[in-house]
Amino acid sequence: MYLKSLELSGFKSFAKKSTLEFNDRVTAIVGPNGSGKSNVAEAFRFVLGEQSIKSMRGTRTEDLIFNGGESSPRANRASVKLVFDNAPHGGTGGRLLNIDFDEVAIERVIHRDSLSEYFINGSHVRLRDIVELLSGAHIGASGHHIISQGEADRILNANVRERREMVEDALGLKIYQYKREESERKLGRTRENMDKVESLRKEIAPHIKFLKKQVERVEKTIALREELRNIYKEYLARESRYLDQAEKTLALEGAAPKRDLERLDRELAQAKKVLEASHHRDARSAELISLEAKLKSAREARDEASRSVGRIEGEVGSLEKMLGREKASAAALAATVEYSKVKTLVDKVDELLGDMTAVPKIRELLRGFLASIKDSKSENRASEIEKELVLLQSRKKEADHEIKTRESELSTLSDKYTALQKEIEKEKDSSRDAEKAMFRIMAEENEVRGRLSVIRLREDKLKLEREDFKRELGEGAGLIGREITSYETAGEYPAEERRAQEERRREIEKIKVRLEDQGGVSPDDVMKEFKETSERDEFLARELVDLERSAESLTNLIKELEEKLDTLFSEGIAKINKQFKEFFALMFGGGEASLTVTREKKRKRGGAALSDEEMAQIGLAEGIEASEEPEEEETELGVGIHVNLPRKKIKALEMLSGGERALTSIALLFAISQVNPPPFIILDETDAALDEANSKKYGDMVENLSKHSQLIVITHNRETMSRAGVLYGVTMGREGFSKLLSIAFNEAVAVAK
Ligand code: ATP
Repeated sequence: MYLKSLELSGFKSFAKKSTLEFNDRVTAIVGPNGSGKSNVAEAFRFVLGEQSIKSMRGTRTEDLIFNGGESSPRANRASVKLVFDNAPHGGTGGRLLNIDFDEVAIERVIHRDSLSEYFINGSHVRLRDIVELLSGAHIGASGHHIISQGEADRILNANVRERREMVEDALGLKIYQYKREESERKLGRTRENMDKVESLRKEIAPHIKFLKKQVERVEKTIALREELRNIYKEYLARESRYLDQAEKTLALEGAAPKRDLERLDRELAQAKKVLEASHHRDARSAELISLEAKLKSAREARDEASRSVGRIEGEVGSLEKMLGREKASAAALAATVEYSKVKTLVDKVDELLGDMTAVPKIRELLRGFLASIKDSKSENRASEIEKELVLLQSRKKEADHEIKTRESELSTLSDKYTALQKEIEKEKDSSRDAEKAMFRIMAEENEVRGRLSVIRLREDKLKLEREDFKRELGEGAGLIGREITSYETAGEYPAEERRAQEERRREIEKIKVRLEDQGGVSPDDVMKEFKETSERDEFLARELVDLERSAESLTNLIKELEEKLDTLFSEGIAKINKQFKEFFALMFGGGEASLTVTREKKRKRGGAALSDEEMAQIGLAEGIEASEEPEEEETELGVGIHVNLPRKKIKALEMLSGGERALTSIALLFAISQVNPPPFIILDETDAALDEANSKKYGDMVENLSKHSQLIVITHNRETMSRAGVLYGVTMGREGFSKLLSIAFNEAVAVAK
């Protein structure tokens, strides 16, 4: 026996604390009409967690609290406590309730101004804890084991679906249904999360694609820079060695004529001194001295003018080189950047078309495109260089003119010089030695100056090359970094490599143009963003795999549960039918009855067409939370009742008499209880409609049922009373509240009246 006692306090008509001890397999509760017997049955529902006030004949919670009588004040709280014997039972040694106590007291308390409170062995718990604990023992507030007054034929009145739920509940399938519902909720949440993750991945996909292209550009830029670095270093190293060597050689070559010129200067000064000091000083000597001075200055002026022409030509050469580069770069810009940008733009428009988020990107691209056209720096630079070249050409013209003037001046002076020289040569006078020396010196000086001017021209050219080199160094450092200046300077520079060096120079220019074409993407930012974005995408992909896995295992679990429910349901129906048939024949002295499984069309959640088997599973899946998906027709399982009364041609339930309905429902309820016996059954005047002969049969069945379940019967029926081991009388006096007393059978008959 599982039930020990029920304690009511302030519950409905039980104003004072009243306790029923259940010491027998069958306990009867008797008493006159309106004394409070049904309130006892409702106290059971209440303590087991019933949420419908209506099913306890009230409209508000307050209706369940004692409302006061003629001489007794109303109560502020109602409490019901049900005590279970939870010691290990039977051969298996299992406990009724899955909790490690030999005795379990479940209590529910309500106050007029608050919600329900629940306790297990005095500890505050949630309703959910009570429901879970009881469902494991096949006891639930749905009350298939509590048959209220007038409710016996509820199972006959119910529709096929309600009847199926009652049968499922009685068969103890609820626990699997809870599990399946829980799994379906989890599956729903998992699918929602999958959708979210998928749409997040879709959102970042174009961004990743874009970043990937940027990364490719960055990688290309890095490779180009590396190429440029290597070739630059090689070029600069060789150029520097070449310049050092050329400067050294020139310095060596220039030393001798410079020394000669100094010597000649000294000798000339000496000769002049002699001539000026001589008493033979005459007009011819003075002419010679003045001619020498004029020749010197005219030669210097001519040399200066031709050096300046040389310098101008050098500058023109390097400016023309720069102009060539700038023009090539401008052409490359026009030929590659614009084209590729326009192409990218067209591709982007194709790929993103229809997506409004593309608009800012297109705008950004167009702006970049415009900026790149505007940024034709090379063209601007080229026109500046051209202006400079025009200036240089006019300066060259001036210098050329200067040379011509000086040349003609020199030729006039030279004529005079030759005439004078001849005149002096004629005289073999030794006193003219100084004059002759001057002629020798002047001739020699002319020759030395010629050599020197060639060297100076080469010096000027070298200087220009050195300046070009410095400019190149600055440009390279700006592009590649300071490290570019750490080139090798030692070693010889073979002159024949000048052409190879020119080749290198052109290659450098080409790479520079290609680099410019790559545009100014910041490599660190792009790489960082690409890394972060693709890591996020990988994380999402992994999460999706996990979610798919859990969706799959949930789907399998649901399928397993549905199969289990299906099997248990069919097996249960078969077992119930066996008992139902027997009890029916017993009650009616023949005839037959059975439960049938029906399939009905119903509106349900949307989805693909389903197989019969799947539909059967869905039929079992009642109670699943309604989904917002569009509805579609499906079939649903129900439980029908088929009866065939002995000696009568009655087949429809509606044609049965009141007594016959009572007998049929009793036979069915008892059959269900027999198949999966609950720990206790409460029958509130289920026998009310029975005549004497049927009362006896009812009594037999009660006794039979009590072998598996503890019975509490509320009755006015003497026969039923006689089957009880313990009898409680309920009375209600003038005070207006119910009283309980344990009584003997004889007293019970009297009390019941
Ligand atoms: P019957 O044999 O006619 O079915 P019963 O013994 O089953 O009667 P109940 O229906 O259990 O009687 O009890 C009804 C009584 O309980 C009524 O007298 C009703 O006034 C009383 N009652 C119900 N709720 C309250 C309440 N909140 N406070 C006081 N009395 C209450």
